[in-house]
Amino acid sequence: MKQRITIVVLGHVDHGKSTLVGRFLFEKGIVHAEEIERYATLGAEMGKASFKYAWVMDRSDESRKRGLTLDLNYADVETRRREIHIIDAPGHRDFVRSMITGTTGADAALLVVDSQEGIMPQTREHAQLAKLMGLERVVVAVNKVDKVNYDPEAIGRVATEIRQLLEGLGLMKPDIIPVSAWEGQNITSRGEQMSWYKGRTLEEVLDIVEPRGGPKGGSLRMPVMQVLTVGGVGTVVLGRIERGEVKEGDELLVMPVNKVGIVRSIEAYGKKIDKAEAGETVGVALRNIGKLEVSRGDVLGPVDDPPKLVEDFTAKIVLIGDVGIVKLGWSPYIHCHTTAVPVKLEAIEMKLRPDSGEASGEAETSFLIDGDAAIVRMRPLKPLILESTDILPGMSRFALRLGKDTLGAGSCISMRITERLGTTSESESRGFSYKHKKAGSGAKEMKKRKDEERRDIWGKPIEKEKKGKK
Ligand code: GDP
Repeated sequence: MKQRITIVVLGHVDHGKSTLVGRFLFEKGIVHAEEIERYATLGAEMGKASFKYAWVMDRSDESRKRGLTLDLNYADVETRRREIHIIDAPGHRDFVRSMITGTTGADAALLVVDSQEGIMPQTREHAQLAKLMGLERVVVAVNKVDKVNYDPEAIGRVATEIRQLLEGLGLMKPDIIPVSAWEGQNITSRGEQMSWYKGRTLEEVLDIVEPRGGPKGGSLRMPVMQVLTVGGVGTVVLGRIERGEVKEGDELLVMPVNKVGIVRSIEAYGKKIDKAEAGETVGVALRNIGKLEVSRGDVLGPVDDPPKLVEDFTAKIVLIGDVGIVKLGWSPYIHCHTTAVPVKLEAIEMKLRPDSGEASGEAETSFLIDGDAAIVRMRPLKPLILESTDILPGMSRFALRLGKDTLGAGSCISMRITERLGTTSESESRGFSYKHKKAGSGAKEMKKRKDEERRDIWGKPIEKEKKGKK
């Protein structure tokens, strides 16, 4: 059987992420020439003919009008040894949130860099986030090489800059492939315009990417990425299994809702399977759980060892960007696995040297600024499920964000768990109002509207439970 891997596509806006994936799907015969031509005609009417490949991935109408990728888009492609699940993350600043969600589930990143523009702010930001979210493998496509006339020197300069950026972050020996998404060079076949390039094509590199693998043993932990209702099947939750395994008939607890569901069936990459394990991205159909009872950010686990809510936690963090002066009481959002929850900074325990992570010996610990690294204690203001790095790295790494800005990242070292559900600590009483809100009619309407436009992680349109007129 072929190994399954998930690749998240990252890079600065307009560097050609969607075009590259669209062209790849076209060359693999997954998207037909007629479809591309249809997009070309449609695009010509809007003065956007150059988006004909990108639109294979950008499915929503709004995305098309703005020429931007709005939410995560998915596609599947098979190579000789791999079944590859591609997640196209948006490059626009507003959507780093979905990028983080996409990255937690990925085995490797495909970083797209425009050969003319070189490294741009989002190139750097995405590379940093990929590293912070635990991806070790980054494949780089130096794109639009047609625009620099396939010149080995110009391409070599950009490649060197990128290698320095990535190796500086600890992402060693990245594969760097010069490609033209538009002209179809070095994607599935060697570019006839670049006889000087002796390396692998994009497809050949993706064919040897190893899955990140999950920790062996331990109880199931599956953070929910997306929830759908599938006609005749009921509620289906999609996500990557971070630890353990799930089988048909298992009883699972959905946290923090604290409700038991029974696994009716499991689907991976469009195929039904009996059992799935750590590292796999799957859809799990649950009996006894209504669609509005589970949402993105919840975690599934077994009844006898359920995912635990965190009362407070200690973490190593690094601050980046426009943070100003961070003092106790600072309340950013923590984006961890598939969830985003506000937290409060309660203590700065020790400052660290940002380069080595060792204690800096600095006595001043009443505030932090851009570039500082520290060990801190934080308290979630809404229910949060988190694990420590030594136990489950995939559920310990997080980004800190406020509004549209990413202000830092870190990983949880240790935590105190909330002992019992139903106590009246601050975080939990807020937790219940949060749950209540989630099921309210406003939220229901919004969810319904969103879901009507959405597709599942295998790219199929999401079917509505009730049969419409069509
Ligand atoms: P994204 O925002 O990174 O997903 O970028 P898009 O895929 O939407 O591409 C942005 C623009 O760059 C579109 O007009 C594409 O046609 C163009 N583009 C992408 N790849 C290439 C390439 O290899 N060569 C040239 N000349 N243009 C490209």
